[in-house]
Amino acid sequence: MTTNHHAHTRFSDGIGEPLDYVREAVQQGVSAYTFSDHAPIPLAAAGCMLMEDLADYSSVIAGLQREYAGRIQLYKSLEVDYIPGVMNVNSPHIRAAGLDFTVGAVHYVDYLPDGTPWSFQRPEPVFAEGIRTIFGGDARRMVERYYGLVREMVATHPPDIVAHLDRIKKRNVGEAYWSEREPWYERAVEETLEAIQGAGCILEVNTRGLYLGEWEDTYPSGWIVERALRRGIRLQVNSDAHRPEHITGGFAKTYAALQQIGAGEVWIYGSHGFRPIPLPEWD
Ligand SMILES: [Zn+2]
Ligand SMILES: [Zn+2]
Repeated sequence: MTTNHHAHTRFSDGIGEPLDYVREAVQQGVSAYTFSDHAPIPLAAAGCMLMEDLADYSSVIAGLQREYAGRIQLYKSLEVDYIPGVMNVNSPHIRAAGLDFTVGAVHYVDYLPDGTPWSFQRPEPVFAEGIRTIFGGDARRMVERYYGLVREMVATHPPDIVAHLDRIKKRNVGEAYWSEREPWYERAVEETLEAIQGAGCILEVNTRGLYLGEWEDTYPSGWIVERALRRGIRLQVNSDAHRPEHITGGFAKTYAALQQIGAGEVWIYGSHGFRPIPLPEWD
């Protein structure tokens, strides 16, 4: 038995209809599945849902919940960006969406000089351009700003689940910009884990880098997951699938890694809210 509480469809930047994901989830034996497309952002941003599609998103999910009742538990969420002064999980359109729970993330770290929101996920050369023009070429400043925003998010508008904590490393392949072993990086992570612990959020162990071949590790890295575990932070494994075939991608390796560091349970969502289940056996 496994669950997946973070995934996308064509309503944001995923490929495929919600139905395609449900069919695949049922076929793979997933017991609970959550739609968490990128929430509409009240400023120009690529890849998120359009405000006018939000009602349709809700009704499509409600229809699937009726159709698949008894076969799989389906839940409605959104991956909500935290952007100071622009949006957070308590924004009116998020509160009005009637979500089962929220998945929170920081993708937009700052703005390019022309006012375009700049995401650390942007491919090169935009990634390098952002570091150069916004942060004076200092990747450390960018990374520290990112973690600072995550701390601000959990302190002021905490989501139920903190998504892919160190996704900031996505474009740092080969540690081209910074090393995770540098003391300042460890400190930024540690302070952020402390804030997550204080806020009581669930920390996602995101497998997207594994099945896409971006990294040999989860988001966040194993050493961060281990520190979270020692702090008693609740963990949840999600694939962040953007295609139906990725729904349980990387799960076997991740559950095995969790077992190795002594994690006995993961937290899943069900009809009575979040609860722990023993670490699933999955291959
Ligand atoms: Zn994300
Ligand atoms: Zn996502």
